[in-house]
Amino acid sequence: MRDLYITNTLSRKKELFVPLHPGFVGLYVCGPTVYGDAHLGHARPGITYDVLVRLLRHLGYKVRYVRNITDVGHLEHDADEGEDKIAKKARLEQVEPMEVAQEYTLRYHEAMRLLNVAPPSIEPRASGHIIEQIELVKKILDAGYAYVSNGSVYFDVKKYNEKHRYGVLSGRNLEDVVSGTRELDSQGDKREPYDFALWKKASPEHIMRWPSPWSEGFPGWHLECSAMSGKYLGKEFDIHGGGMDLMFPHHECELAQNTASRGEGGVRYWMHNNMITINGKKMGKSYGNFITLQEMFDGTHPILTQAYSPMTVRFFILQAHYRSTLDFSNEALQAAEKGLKRIMQAARDLKETGTRTPGEADGKVSDEVEGIIGKVYDALCDDLNTPVALAHIFDAVRLINSAKDGKTGISAADHEALTRLFDDIVSGVLGLEDEEGSGGKAAETLSGLMDMVLEQRKIAKDARDWATSDKIRDRLKALGITIKDTKEGTEWSF
Ligand code: ZN
Repeated sequence: MRDLYITNTLSRKKELFVPLHPGFVGLYVCGPTVYGDAHLGHARPGITYDVLVRLLRHLGYKVRYVRNITDVGHLEHDADEGEDKIAKKARLEQVEPMEVAQEYTLRYHEAMRLLNVAPPSIEPRASGHIIEQIELVKKILDAGYAYVSNGSVYFDVKKYNEKHRYGVLSGRNLEDVVSGTRELDSQGDKREPYDFALWKKASPEHIMRWPSPWSEGFPGWHLECSAMSGKYLGKEFDIHGGGMDLMFPHHECELAQNTASRGEGGVRYWMHNNMITINGKKMGKSYGNFITLQEMFDGTHPILTQAYSPMTVRFFILQAHYRSTLDFSNEALQAAEKGLKRIMQAARDLKETGTRTPGEADGKVSDEVEGIIGKVYDALCDDLNTPVALAHIFDAVRLINSAKDGKTGISAADHEALTRLFDDIVSGVLGLEDEEGSGGKAAETLSGLMDMVLEQRKIAKDARDWATSDKIRDRLKALGITIKDTKEGTEWSF
């Protein structure tokens, strides 16, 4: 198996990836909070970890990819107080909280499908793992790293920090955390401002609530990922991924919970993708630049000068390294659209370009093609360096274009190697598909099939076989296709 290097947030170094169990990779990625539409911020982790999974599988690993759905007790990012978003929307709209969560889960799935992000192996919902979360709170209490206060349970950060290091992942020490905690936050029943909730007693207005040994309430946000990763990947697993915005406090708290309950952090490699900015600014509702993926695909957000296809968005994201910030602008997206078109055109041309059989040692891949393919693999295995991999794929595109123009030829062996590069890497690992090609192909096939069906009907009619001709018309109608006989022939429409 090829060596794969990934940057581990824990060591802040690029490390050789060595799985815990040979040939098997356990991967956990923090999934969406389903209280709003999937937006650009979801596209980046979705695509980054999709490429990681595709690459690992291509290299021969079996991967168990767990990506959760946060559908309960999530209190907006660093706030530990306040009404749950799902509950609030549900109260306003007079619907069941699960109805809201379901609606947004389906929309998220649809956006990911359009972006060609393969579904995870397991997609656990926080609401389906309340028992496991309660058990985890008990373990942390038994270990002495939590305390009960007025029906809620809090993680005792100071106590934990005496034995372990709180802040090891994000590189903070407790003093930084103390000074960084906003004093204005209502401290409630916590001993220290930096303590975080493992279980919260529900206020009377709170809709989503479950019974527990401490109160009727709901789990703290950080708890679900510790409980569900432990359940599906074990006490220790290979890779935990997520956006950089989740590193603190979410992942820091997760790591502390794991250590407090299992005796170890539980994760060998922590990976974090960087954030997306829009025209140089952070994306956010208050900045007026919050773009949902649907708006992106339709081009309906005022910032956008046009619609961008899901593959353009995917290509655009892959043009930057996942650890760099990525700035969205119309100009950059239009450039990405052009780049993607060039690659897809080359993929089509390659299929149609014939091979030559010159006198040279055929049957052997040329040094040039071998070099390109080697560099593509090297880049991908070097901490998922997709921009460099794409740059080398463009070298292959130039080679194909030159053959298409008749300037050079492609040997049979090179043709086969390049075809594999497009199938295995461009489509397989990078997940870039030909949007025009596939839509065009399906439409072409349908049109051909309809010609065939209508021809059979004409034969039946000419033979005065009314039973058959009516049957064809009725069967088409059942499929939603209506046909109309005109002087020029038969027309059909949906
Ligand atoms: Zn998480």
